[in-house]
Amino acid sequence: MGWTRSSVVAAALVLVLSIACAPLSFEEEAYLGRQVNDQIRHEADLVRDRQIWDYVRKIGHKIVAAAGPQPFTYHFYVVESGAINAFALPAGYIYVNTETIMQARNVSELAGVIGHEVGHVARRHVANNYRRQQNVGVLHRVGTYTAALIGGGMAGSAANMGGGLAAAAYLNSYGRDAEREADVFAVEVLPKAGYDPEGLVTFFETMMRESGGSLPAWLSSHPATSERIASTRTLIREADLPRGLRRTDGGRLEQIQKRIAALRRRRP
Ligand SMILES: [Zn+2]
Repeated sequence: MGWTRSSVVAAALVLVLSIACAPLSFEEEAYLGRQVNDQIRHEADLVRDRQIWDYVRKIGHKIVAAAGPQPFTYHFYVVESGAINAFALPAGYIYVNTETIMQARNVSELAGVIGHEVGHVARRHVANNYRRQQNVGVLHRVGTYTAALIGGGMAGSAANMGGGLAAAAYLNSYGRDAEREADVFAVEVLPKAGYDPEGLVTFFETMMRESGGSLPAWLSSHPATSERIASTRTLIREADLPRGLRRTDGGRLEQIQKRIAALRRRRP
């Protein structure tokens, strides 16, 4: 009412420009996170086993608490997949694949991966990727990233996947600076949560050694170069770390790994 045609056009233009240029507000990010998360929960093969889920959730919340006040409430989920991967949605919805848990040699390695993902959210890399995605208009093309992210066990059911996982894949393709920043975050925060940050590095090393040329999905969306391993190791060496940081958790990880193996055997 009372709007002229040109004022509507101008308002629309301002809206488009502000969407294209302004950083995502926390409210926008929270809204976006809920949207993508609702989709993922239908698409991904979520593990609802209480012990497995709680195990990952506790590690995640311990890390978030150590990171200090956050603008979002973080949520952690476990996805049944034979691919080593973990990914973060906007506003702190973090997913860890079962194979990542299976390949971790101790809890500090799993905590390292989770700490790195929390870092991507806390440093707003996921939100920035969403902005980048809008700028280059590739929302409809994110499907091409799905295979790269999911890979392994879920590749066979890729045809059943909708846009949520594809969007997650795109939102989790970071540049070198963002990867570095997430590593710095993990090295800072993990000791405050009681975990030895060396786990992040040893997990990278195991993956590089075992991949034999073809990098697993987590490494291709978060490339672990030897340069990155070396720089993370330097960070750790230079940090004034307290003694007695935790690497193992008294056999709990191994119990959870057995549970995942049993769960897999029961599957058709
Ligand atoms: Zn990363």
